[in-house]
Amino acid sequence: MSSDRLKIVWIYPDLLSTYGDQGNTIVLERRAALRGIPTVTVSLRSDEPVPPDGHIYLLGGGEDRPQILAAQRLRADGGLQRAVDNGAVVFAVCAGFQIIGHEFGGDEGQPLPGLGLLDIRSFRGQQRAVGEVVSDVASELRVPRVTGFENHQGATTIGPAARPFAKVVSGIGNGDGQGFEGAYQGHVLGTYMHGPALVRNPALADLLLTWAVGGQLQPIDDSWAGRLREERLAAVLGASGPAPA
Ligand code: GLN
Repeated sequence: MSSDRLKIVWIYPDLLSTYGDQGNTIVLERRAALRGIPTVTVSLRSDEPVPPDGHIYLLGGGEDRPQILAAQRLRADGGLQRAVDNGAVVFAVCAGFQIIGHEFGGDEGQPLPGLGLLDIRSFRGQQRAVGEVVSDVASELRVPRVTGFENHQGATTIGPAARPFAKVVSGIGNGDGQGFEGAYQGHVLGTYMHGPALVRNPALADLLLTWAVGGQLQPIDDSWAGRLREERLAAVLGASGPAPA
């Protein structure tokens, strides 16, 4: 990490805050603090320039038109692309996930340009995906089975430079028929999981923190966070669901 405080940038709360994903910032702050890592969080309105010195940039879900405006403003700003070139971590959810790809479907399904930070393309899906989603994370990321809540019309296809974040066990996920949920490329990770995702899946929060600080984190007591995860897994899969990965 290049300074003494971990800088978290919450992108465009005025446009991309519809689905409660701001909780992801709170979890990162809290889990960093428990390891003695001081943080500073910037809530960046869409009329402000993207600061270049963030360690973790967070994008949340949004409705179609705010999503289009957010993509236009981020493209015009260029700061997020520069931060990623300098090694910053990006965690993007749903509308945010679609925006950081090459292309996404607008409010009429029209193709619109994204930021191209992740080799994915999104488009208007056949059916809206609404409900719980459970998936098994790519083994190299060492994150146990994740749960979230999805609510999206868009579907997403992963290109060769990105990798699937997870394989769907229950729910829709990317919705392009490949059975994947989310995608990642370097330290840029996108998912359809609301929840908020990092509240539900503390190990995913720790993966982002590990990327940002460039080293291992000391273990913490996760019994409460773990209970929520277990409760959600049991609610979706029941006692007879597929064995955890
Ligand atoms: N508007 C996008 C879609 O429907 C994103 C929705 C969301 O962020 N939950 O696909």
